[in-house]
Amino acid sequence: MTEKRWLPETLFDDLGLRMTFAVDKVLYEQETEHQHLVLFEHKHFGKMLMLDGATQVTTRDEFVYHEMMTHVPILAHGRAKNVLIIGGGDCGIAEEVLKHKTLQSVVQVEIDASVVAFAKEHFPEFATPVFRDKRFESVIADGMKYVAETERRFDVIIVDSTDPQGPGAVLFTKEFYAACKRCMAAGGVMVTQNGVPFFQPDELVASVGLFKSLFADAACYVAAIPTYIGGHMAMGWAAKDRKLRRHPVRTIAARYQKAGSFKTRYWTPEVHVAAFALPRFIAEHVKGAKKR
Ligand code: SAM
Repeated sequence: MTEKRWLPETLFDDLGLRMTFAVDKVLYEQETEHQHLVLFEHKHFGKMLMLDGATQVTTRDEFVYHEMMTHVPILAHGRAKNVLIIGGGDCGIAEEVLKHKTLQSVVQVEIDASVVAFAKEHFPEFATPVFRDKRFESVIADGMKYVAETERRFDVIIVDSTDPQGPGAVLFTKEFYAACKRCMAAGGVMVTQNGVPFFQPDELVASVGLFKSLFADAACYVAAIPTYIGGHMAMGWAAKDRKLRRHPVRTIAARYQKAGSFKTRYWTPEVHVAAFALPRFIAEHVKGAKKR
């Protein structure tokens, strides 16, 4: 009887914390040009993707993160036409974004071609509808280089990145956020994967400090994703229009209806507005973040 393999999440090793997952079956494993990629079957979470020892996406809880990183900025904006996704190679974010029929273009800039190739094979529930959609454009490039050079302008920028290590580190810098501001259209907004404040407070404080020095409005909102351990996940908010995150439930509900009331499992107009009501310890991190 072969020993069951257990795969550790090593992201919080320096905190003396490891969550391990029993592997039912390894579906795909590769050392790519940029990172170690493993996809495996887990009895509770279904398919799980890990990059460099950090859980990226699971079929069981992906809806929380993907819905909150997409419907919140797009419906807060209310008139978005062009969306940019940085990272997001598993196509889970793009799949949710493309539910908004009023959008004209969706560009995904992913650094690792292997992640997109493997998503087509192993996450067809995301990739198939996405690559069928004529509005979708897949670019394989470093997100930093793309936002620094593109002539295009985007109403909503969604940074679905790995953590600030390896290829993802540059996506948490002032240069990157300043370049995102450069290719953001007037009245635009950017949201960022910004870690779990209980374990990664410095990451949130650093990003919000940079947002404060670059954008009219700097904040974060939260959601709880079971496999992003540590309680609330923070999604960074950097906007050129201070009104965007202050719309009441009835305004968001009306926009959702106009967008066709597509099916969601986590996001609702009430959850959208409530997500900006931060627990005090997170609100203090945001308030205390110094302009950098
Ligand atoms: N939701 C996940 C999370 O919160 O950890 C992220 C999922 S997505 C798979 C992260 C993607 O960011 C990876 O595919 C990775 O290759 C990509 N990425 C990392 N650094 C990048 C960069 N500099 N430019 C573009 N994509 C990058």
